Amino acid sequence: ASTPSLVSEVLGVCVALADEAGDIVRSVAAGGSLGQVKDKSGKQGADNKAIDPQTQADRRAERLIVATLRSKFGDRVKVLGEESLEGALTEAGSAAELVKPIELHVPPSAEAKSDDVCVWVDPLDGTREYVEGPDHWSGVTVLMGISVGGVPVAGVIHQPFVDHDGGPSSDPTCRGRTLWGGYNMGVWSSPGRDVSLARRVPRLPVADPANLRVATTRSHPGPAIERAIDLLTPAEVVRAGGAGGKVALILDGRVDAWVFPQKGTKRWDTCAGEALLRA
Ligand code: AMP
Ligand code: MG
Ligand code: MG
Repeated sequence: ASTPSLVSEVLGVCVALADEAGDIVRSVAAGGSLGQVKDKSGKQGADNKAIDPQTQADRRAERLIVATLRSKFGDRVKVLGEESLEGALTEAGSAAELVKPIELHVPPSAEAKSDDVCVWVDPLDGTREYVEGPDHWSGVTVLMGISVGGVPVAGVIHQPFVDHDGGPSSDPTCRGRTLWGGYNMGVWSSPGRDVSLARRVPRLPVADPANLRVATTRSHPGPAIERAIDLLTPAEVVRAGGAGGKVALILDGRVDAWVFPQKGTKRWDTCAGEALLRA
């Protein structure tokens, strides 16, 4: 047996961690109080809702992910998380113990030639949708993108409130769905943490320009977006929350493109999705 490359080893850990973080996201939601700690934008939206909220789930999930990656990989991997939290890393450890069996299922491809391996962590993407309630939870994801020399090569999109077929699920026993993969691996879908049940996600069909379906934001609207959509004259526009959620709509073949010609997304929003769309 060959030793897995650093990238596939990191990916295996990220698949386990995404599922653990999903447990945090689900349990904070089930607890009823999301413990919103602040609005990072420092502004109030027109509808009086936080523009860029952070909850206890974002904080706890990021602590778990960052602390586990640091303790497992040390200096070999850079870890950049949206919430940039330091201090008490109380939940590290539990995911590290789950990693071993999962590594074995990750194909030892995607050899990292560069030593510049980076993990971009969005512990909870779609926080706006998260705080707005169960009707919007299908757009919530946990994102980990792996780049080598600045190029996205592998990634994980975990959907805590989606069933294995990609449909929204409010069933409390739902284990969520994890989409993972990368360069030379394709894209795989696992229910919960059960990588042994992973199925390959079929390659995307070529979009039909006469019947173009696009996804765009529901919570960060702007004039450039509407103008771009007018110019594209799509047959269908899906307004859905979350960066990871919209990439999942593309991977599921529900839409052909995500249209967002506007500032706002950061590398931790896009790295995982870009890697999976190129895989
Ligand atoms: P959306 O399509 O509006 O749900 O945006 C996708 C993701 O990009 C969000 O979940 C945020 O992580 C990020 N994002 C987009 N626009 C903004 C913004 N104006 N401020 C902060 N985050 C944003
Ligand atoms: Mg985000
Ligand atoms: Mg986030």
